[in-house]
Amino acid sequence: MEIKPFENKVWLSTPTMHGEEIEYIKEAYETNWMSTVGANINEVERLICEKVGCKYAVALASGTSALHMAVKLAGVKPGDKVFCTDMTFDATVNPVVYEGGVPVLIDTEYDTWNMDPAALEKAFELYPEVKVCVLAHLYGVPAKLDEIMAICKKHGAILIEDAAESLGASYKGVQTGTFGDFSAISFNGNKIITGSSGGMLLTDDAVAAQKVRKWSTQARDNAPWYQHTELGYNYRMSNVIAGVVRGQLPHLEEHIAQKKAIYERYKEGFKDLPVKMNPFDEEKTVPNYWLSCMIIDETAMCMQVRGDLEAHYVTEKGRTCPTEILEKLAEINAEGRPIWKPMHMQPIYSSNPFVTKEGDGRTQVKISAGADIFERGLCLPSDNKMTAHEQAVIIEVVRKCFE
Ligand SMILES: *Cc1c(COP(=O)(O)O)cnc(C)c1O
Repeated sequence: MEIKPFENKVWLSTPTMHGEEIEYIKEAYETNWMSTVGANINEVERLICEKVGCKYAVALASGTSALHMAVKLAGVKPGDKVFCTDMTFDATVNPVVYEGGVPVLIDTEYDTWNMDPAALEKAFELYPEVKVCVLAHLYGVPAKLDEIMAICKKHGAILIEDAAESLGASYKGVQTGTFGDFSAISFNGNKIITGSSGGMLLTDDAVAAQKVRKWSTQARDNAPWYQHTELGYNYRMSNVIAGVVRGQLPHLEEHIAQKKAIYERYKEGFKDLPVKMNPFDEEKTVPNYWLSCMIIDETAMCMQVRGDLEAHYVTEKGRTCPTEILEKLAEINAEGRPIWKPMHMQPIYSSNPFVTKEGDGRTQVKISAGADIFERGLCLPSDNKMTAHEQAVIIEVVRKCFE
């Protein structure tokens, strides 16, 4: 196979438009609902409730603002500790800090790359006073929900589900975004469907949904003038953005099918290499395959050293590392990414408590599951507009790294 750089860059994951989006944007324009009120907003809220199976959906400016509202609903107060997924995007954790809370980071398990129930159980032993847990489903793979929900229930804790990456994924036939007391989804530009931006707070609690509608529109009281009793936010989704989401929603299953095909082609292409694809529970879950990721077996890792801002490696026969693979992909104009760098390794959160299933929550362990997956794993180009030929070239480039 001839390997030369792609003329058009193959991205990690970019928006895929279909045409309906522009019609709904135009409708917003022509009817002059160029605002945070309008038919597109009402319709996307209805469609998401129908798809996900929740009672209420409140359209907001982003997944992050939805998580912020969820943390507020959960009643997190300054100084309160909150258990959070450790290996994730920082938007899972930051909203806890917006409310003055202290994220306690919970290590990762190897079966789904999500929060480890054993570490969560340990965390409740160490911090029995904790009342809120924020759980992300990484890369569109549902976490161990039975175990995590049972632990939260046992300790009377509220579960906030960060389903920003997992829209359309299900656990035992039920969609993610319905397991949390409060859940968040995202329509950021790189997600499985997009509004260019946007997000939603999902819940079955009517009072909670009503609170978020109020808070997200500056917390105006019902009075003839601007009357405020509570702190407000300008977090509502625009009707123009909602038009994009409305045009995208009918294509969710199609996007998932494309992403699944990408995952399976990688799996097949790497089947004789010392690597594994990002794993999921094949009996209980159907992922949305948002990003295809791989992890290199320990025995096939060459030396790799990562500082805070740069990485080095020493290539070896038969061995490689994420840094080398990402470099080789960049050389052919393809975009991969390291795995989300765990929050406990981030300068901003490095002094927060971090609980592993063995650790004591105070002293930092040398190698946690999260740090290990970050060390050996990477996200592969997963754009649903990537052709089978482009993917075949990418697979060949990765294979060559192991020669
Ligand atoms: C994208 C993402 C978010 C934030 O969503 P935005 O819409 O970008 O604010 C939160 N958590 C995770 C895990 C994400 O991937």
